[in-house]
Parts: sequence; structure tokens; C-alpha cells
Amino acid sequence: MSAAASRTIPDTVAAVRRAFDAGVTKPLAWRLAQLQALRQLLIECAADFEAALQEDLGKNPTESQIAELGFVVGEIDHMTRHLRRWLRPRRVTVPGALLPARASTILEPLGAVLVIAPWNYPVQLLLAPLVGALAAGNAVVLKPSELAPATSAAMARLLPQYLDPRAVAVVEGGVPETTELLAHRWDHIFYTGNGRVGRIVAAAAAEHLTPVTLELGGKSPVYVDESADLAATARRLAWGKFMNAGQTCVAPDYVLAERAVASRLATALGDALRELYGSDPAQSADYGRIVDDRHHSRLTSLLGSGTIAVGGGHDAQTRYLAPTVLLDVPRDSPVMEEEIFGPILPIVVVDGLDDAIAVIRSGDKPLALYVFSERASVRRRILTETSSGAVGFGIPAAHLAVAGLPFGGVGDSGHGAYHGERSLRTFSHEKAVLRKPLAPDTMRLVYPPYTEAKDSFARGLLRRLG
Ligand code: NAD
Repeated sequence: MSAAASRTIPDTVAAVRRAFDAGVTKPLAWRLAQLQALRQLLIECAADFEAALQEDLGKNPTESQIAELGFVVGEIDHMTRHLRRWLRPRRVTVPGALLPARASTILEPLGAVLVIAPWNYPVQLLLAPLVGALAAGNAVVLKPSELAPATSAAMARLLPQYLDPRAVAVVEGGVPETTELLAHRWDHIFYTGNGRVGRIVAAAAAEHLTPVTLELGGKSPVYVDESADLAATARRLAWGKFMNAGQTCVAPDYVLAERAVASRLATALGDALRELYGSDPAQSADYGRIVDDRHHSRLTSLLGSGTIAVGGGHDAQTRYLAPTVLLDVPRDSPVMEEEIFGPILPIVVVDGLDDAIAVIRSGDKPLALYVFSERASVRRRILTETSSGAVGFGIPAAHLAVAGLPFGGVGDSGHGAYHGERSLRTFSHEKAVLRKPLAPDTMRLVYPPYTEAKDSFARGLLRRLG
């Protein structure tokens, strides 16, 4: 057992805070070196992580490269390229009445931060926030998910070999360990996972007035109308939905379509799935497995909603659940109650766009919303009449790969965002700085005693120049 692993949680928290207080994490050179070390870890230990992801989730190594390791390398490279510029003070206009003076904002690190990750993308969702936390100059404790134990163990073993162990630590464990971590005072908590635990995290953070980023989930709807090319739509949906066996926070959760579109789309989805995973996805090396028995039985119990148009096969022993499309799904059926988070795609019939918008608005604000329509008016109406973390026209899930787009939810799908520059800002305090020379002392105009001249200055000039 390494020294770090044998430390108690209070010792670990105290150690990273000491490193922050000692100024270890602040220099730009340290930050860039840590980012490069993280990059090196992801390249040199790719095989270890790929094997762990295969063990935890049956993830194909190519998919692990695209959605986990390669994704984080991309975030590191983007951050490294721009960090120096993003950290430059930003000049702000000073109102005329305060001149001469100079105002600017600078980004300062928050301190010791806690990152709590879920199991579904256990590399990406632990390390992409770490990129932002390090770039911003923080000390970090990482808590991987206990539901992806092989990846969690790989993190605990490998990270300390690459990153500065004074300022970056991994604490493994489940609810007791996370509860203990949450009792400490942090300068930021970055949590990704479900909303129930999100509330626990927010309540614990409130004890210390700690700011939180909550990256949560929910039901991400899709609207498809007859103007869309259904074969192309089906391929995009099949890819976004059934990647990682549907265990993706931004996966399409359900489809809204008019009756004629619904049945044609179901057929097209069957064709697309055969293209992606062959006629028996159980035999495909590219199709994942459900993370544990509890989720497997939760998901199979949802198969009774509507009728099975595609798939439906399952095996508890191997935690396999075929890519499944459900048709004629009533709006009040169990599969429509909660986020599915698995390879089941219900198609719900709607009576046109107004009805679809009403269905979307009746639920929690989604993390993502997808629209397949060639009509600009349809896209515009959905964009302006609904609220969601993100909108994808013609493509699900891929918005998170655009580093310039903030990634996060709204309402029940979370608050705060990250990726690219937004990650740096999430883990920084934007400090306001005003510098005004002592001479000439223009402030005399507002010092008491208040005269008539000062009064008219206050009422007129001050407002006009404000
Ligand atoms: P999970 O069970 O791994 O839990 C997430 C983390 O919370 C883990 O580290 C776990 O140890 C901790 N945790 C669990 N119970 C706790 C408790 N009682 N007190 C304190 N900590 C606790 O993952 P999950 O929540 O099942 O993840 C799936 C959910 O996450 C879905 O809702 C999905 O949509 C959402 N998600 C969101 C994003 C996003 O970026 N917005 C990404 C992935 C997943």
C-alpha cells in the first residue's frame, strides 16, 4: 500500500490543504507540468485504463479512447494551448466619475477542491474536472466511483506515480468515505452523478458555504419530424443512445414523434443497430454491459412499457441488455418516469410540435435536448420555448466534445459548467482589482461635507458617466 493510500481521510485533506497554503500549486509552471504529467499518464498507462474499463463496463478499447482517455488528452491540450492567455488580467472599463483609475479582473485559485465522480465514464468524469482544477492552481482530492472498482483502483495506483502527491490525492470508497470527505471544509466541490446524491452534496457544502458544481442527469428528449432523413437520424440516435450501453448522461432518453414517423423511425433504428452491432449485439465486442445487477434488474423491469420493436433480449449472468426500442409507449408508463440510463429507447407518439413542446416542458429541465428536423421554424421554436443544459440539432451527445461550449445542466439537471475555459473559471475566483492613484484626488467631489455643487454633481454628472 502506498503512503498516500494508507493515510486517513483527515490526514489526506490536511495534506493537500497544506500544499495549497504553502503555494505549491500556484505557479503557472507547476500547473503546466501537472497537466503534462497527466497527459503522460493517459498515454503511458492507456492499456491499464482500457483493461479496467473493459472489466467495469465491457467498454471496447476504441470507445475508451474516444470517450474517456482521448477526450481528457484533448481537454489537456486545449487548456495547455490557451492557459497563459486565459490567465491574463482582463481590463474593465472604469466609469468616468472614477477616473483616473484602472480596473481589471484576475483569476485566483480557490484552494483545496473535491471532485466526486460517477461510474459511467469513470476516467473522463474524474479527470476532465481535474484538468480545470489543476490549470486553475488548486490542490485536489479525487473520489472515483466505487461502482467502477477496477478503474477506481487504477486511479489510486497510477495517479500518485505521475502527479505531485503533495497536492493531488485519490480517496477510494463508497458512501461512508464520501460522507466523511463531505464533512470537511472545501473551497469547491465538483460533483457528477444523480440528483438525489446531488442534494446530499449541496446540503453538506452549505454547512461551510462551499460553492458546488452539480453535473446531474435526467431525461434528455429527442424530437423527430417527417422532414428529417430517418435513416441518417436513426444512425445518429443509435450511436448516441447505445454507446456505453446507454449509460451516458447525455444519451437520448426518449423520442417524441408523430405516429407515422414513429413506426418508420423504429424500423430505421433496427437497421442502424444491425449496422453498428451486427444481428446479435451480445456477440459484438463493441457493445457494453450494464454496470451491476441492481441496474440490470431495474432496466429489465422497464421492458414492459409499450411494445418491443427492436431488441428486448437480456441475460442477468453477463448483465447484457440488448439495444431496445419501444413503440406505443404511454406517457405515464414506468419507462417515462425516471431517467432510463440504459439501452432502452422509448418512442412516444405526439400530436405535432406544440404537443412535443408541452411534453418537454412538463418534465424537469433536461441536461440535453435533440432535434432532428430540416425546418428552421421548428428548431427556432424548440430553442426559444424550452430550457435545457444544451441543444443538439442533428446530433446527440457530441456537444460535449466542443471545448468552447460550456457543459452543464440547468434546474434539475444541475448547475455550473465546465470544459475548456469554463473549467478554468469554474475552479477559479474572479477577483476584482481597482487601482486609483492618490493624486489628483478626484474623490474630493464625493467626500462630505455635501455642498450644493456636490449634490448636483451626484445627481447629474455621476449618473451620466456611470
Ligand atoms: P454513482 O453511484 O457512482 O455516484 C456518484 C458518486 O456519488 C460516487 O462517487 C459515489 O460514491 C457518490 N455517492 C453515492 N451515494 C452517496 C451518498 N449517499 N452520499 C455521498 N456520496 C455518494 O453514480 P450515479 O449517481 O449512479 O451516476 C449516474 C447519474 O449521474 C445519472 O443520473 C447520470 O445522468 C448522471 N451523470 C451526469 C453527468 C453529467 O456530466 N452531467 C455525467 C455522468 C452521469
